[in-house]
Amino acid sequence: MLDQYGRTIDYIRISVTDRCNLRCIYCMPEEGVEQVSHSDILSYAEIVRLCRIFVRLGIRHIKLTGGEPLVRKGLPDLAKEIRSIPGIEDVTLTTNGVLLGEQMKALYEAGIRSVNVSLDTLDGDMFQRITRRDLLDRVLEGLKECAGYPDVRLKINCVPLKGVNEEQWVKMAGIAREYPVDVRFIELMPIGFGKEYHGETQESIQKRLKEAYGSPRMLTGSFGNGPSVYVDYPGFAGRIGFISAISHKFCSQCNRVRLTSEGYLKLCLQYTDGVDVRELLRGGKADEEIFRVLKEAIEQKPRDHQFTVRNGRHFEQHEMSRIGG
Ligand code: SAM
Ligand code: SF4
Repeated sequence: MLDQYGRTIDYIRISVTDRCNLRCIYCMPEEGVEQVSHSDILSYAEIVRLCRIFVRLGIRHIKLTGGEPLVRKGLPDLAKEIRSIPGIEDVTLTTNGVLLGEQMKALYEAGIRSVNVSLDTLDGDMFQRITRRDLLDRVLEGLKECAGYPDVRLKINCVPLKGVNEEQWVKMAGIAREYPVDVRFIELMPIGFGKEYHGETQESIQKRLKEAYGSPRMLTGSFGNGPSVYVDYPGFAGRIGFISAISHKFCSQCNRVRLTSEGYLKLCLQYTDGVDVRELLRGGKADEEIFRVLKEAIEQKPRDHQFTVRNGRHFEQHEMSRIGG
C-alpha cells in the first residue's frame, strides 16, 4: 500500500522476542532486558493472523528479528507458516548466528532463503568485549553451516564503532573477498545504548577499504528489500554494502514498518507513534476492523526520522533489542 507520502510499504520487520543470548554493548544492558512474561508477547498464532492481514495491506516481505529470534522455540515453524500465506514473497531472518548452526537445516526447510548475521569482529577477545559473551566460535559455525546452502543469500552486518572495532573493518570486508557473501556496514543509530558510542561514517570506512582493496565500482540496481548501497571491490567474490540511516538519510524511500514482540506496530524506527495491535487482537476485534486500523496507521507513517534533533517529542527511548533493529 501507499502511505501519505506516496511510498510503497511492502516490508515488515517482526520481532518475536526481546530476549537475547548476547549482550551487545550498544544494544542491551549487561544484565539483559527486563523479562516480558510469555503471555505478553504475541503467540505464533497471533503473528500468523496478523500476517494474513498485513498481506492484504500489501506487505510482501517479512523479516523475523528480535532480541535474538532463534532463542524463541519453534521459529522455523513460524517461518514456514508465514511463508505459506499467499502473497508473501519472502520470509527472511536477522540473527546473531549463535544458534544458526543447529537451526539452519530447519530454517532452510521452512523456506528461508536469506539470512543476515550480525557480526562486528572476527577477533575472539574483541567479540567478547562487544557482546559480553565468549561465543564467536558458535557464530562462525553458524556462518559455515549457512554457507553450505548455496541458494541462501547470506549477508553479514557489522556496526563500525569508533575506538572499539576499528582495526577489524578491513578484515570484516575481507570476508567478501574470500566468500560470496555481502558484508554490510550499518551506521550506529543513537537509540538506547547506541547513544553511548560513536559510529563511523561511510566515507571514512570507504577510505580505509580503498587503501586496502583498491577503488570500488558503485553498483546500481536493487539487491534486496532495503536501503543498502553496494560497491564491488576488484577480485571480490561478494559485495560490500553500506546502510547509513543518519549520514545518508533514506527516509524518502522507506518501505517498512515494524511489529514489536509485544504486538506494537511501529511506523518509524525513531518514533513511539503506532498501534497497540495486541490490544485489538485480544480485545476480540474482527480482522476487518484490525485491517482498517492498520491501514489508517500505515498511511500516517512519519515522513522522516529526526535523529539529529535533540530530545524531540515522541522519540523512541527503548533499547534496539526491544525494537528489532
Ligand atoms: N539479535 C539479532 C541480531 O543481532 O541480528 C536481531 C536483532 S538486532 C537488534 C538487529 C540489528 O540491529 C543488529 O544487526 C544490530 O547490530 C543492530 N543494532 C542494534 N543496536 C543498534 C544501533 N544503536 N544502531 C544501529 N544498529 C543497531
Ligand atoms: Fe542481541 Fe542482536 Fe542486540 Fe546483540 S544486537 S544484543 S545479538 S539483539
